[in-house]
Amino acid sequence: MAYKAEYIWLDGTTPTAQLRSKTRVVESGHAPPIWGFDGSSTNQAPGDKSDCVLRPAFVCPDPTRGADDRLVVCEVLLAKDMSPHPTNTRAALTRAAELYVKHDAWFGMEQEYTFFQDGRPLGWPEAGFPAPQGPYYCSVGSGLAFGRELVEQHMDACLRAGLAFAGINAEVMPGQWEFQIGAIGPVAMADQLTVARWLLHRIAEAHGVSVSLAAKPVKGDWNGAGCHTNFSTRAMREDYAAIISACEALGARAAQHIAGYGHGIEERLTGHHETCSYAMFKYGVSDRGASIRIPWHVAKDKKGYLEDRRPNANCDPYTVCRLILETVCSAV
Ligand code: ADP
Ligand code: MN
Ligand code: MN
Ligand code: MN
Repeated sequence: MAYKAEYIWLDGTTPTAQLRSKTRVVESGHAPPIWGFDGSSTNQAPGDKSDCVLRPAFVCPDPTRGADDRLVVCEVLLAKDMSPHPTNTRAALTRAAELYVKHDAWFGMEQEYTFFQDGRPLGWPEAGFPAPQGPYYCSVGSGLAFGRELVEQHMDACLRAGLAFAGINAEVMPGQWEFQIGAIGPVAMADQLTVARWLLHRIAEAHGVSVSLAAKPVKGDWNGAGCHTNFSTRAMREDYAAIISACEALGARAAQHIAGYGHGIEERLTGHHETCSYAMFKYGVSDRGASIRIPWHVAKDKKGYLEDRRPNANCDPYTVCRLILETVCSAV
């Protein structure tokens, strides 16, 4: 007997890497082996040295196929010496996670995304615009929530894959939704978000719907799409002073974080639509106009976590987790 292994990796497309995947049939009882692909077709290699290596890094059940089938998130390596390919942001996160393992960091990411069909957000009229924002966030009912069947299928798939899936909600812009994963360690966080994104694209295929992770999918008076990243170390889960120190450390490296939080961030972090301008940094309790929000219950309990509201929906989760880990953990 054999099982199907879907090898998933991030390509070299700029400014935002795209997910790629292909299937290998593997003999039962064997782990998915090292494999390769044509890097000249993914912006990862020139045609005359096209071979790139796929090294399996995270394996979970594939809910889109049979019980024995697997999804396999891979690191891309250079064929010449098996070192990480320049597009392999997972390798650097793994190093940081090992360096700061004593901090016992947890991440929880809130992935926002927008369904599209026929060139416009799902549920939008053929001409003109839907009624202004207000009733759509956490809505129920036709004419308000668009695409729920898909959202439910995706949630079930993530749970069957064994991901630390935490919840879903309809978002402020019609056709836009959010799911949350976590709280889990940094490498698990980024691997699981990668799987959850792949499943979303894959499941939407069957409905003729596409998924956009664009930071500002519709210009004008419509919310952008982010990937709020909740973060704690053991010290922060025990002591409020550690949360304030973490906010201060993040402020000292604000520009570096903005540069690593996804393409088009200036269009999204305008200072409107529940954001703080990309050119400013501030943190505050319950403040959805801040770069970093300290949730009210964290301020009340005097311990817990912070929410970095800046990462874009199209961010690279490996880079976001690495930046936060390095900035907060190197400061103490
Ligand atoms: P919001 O109010 O910003 O919409 P959500 O409920 O969507 O918040 O997401 C909050 C996320 O915070 C949860 O999904 C969870 O994964 C994460 N979280 C909770 N506690 C911690 C913690 N101690 N450290 C890191 N992340 C956490
Ligand atoms: Mn949320
Ligand atoms: Mn949200
Ligand atoms: Mn949030």
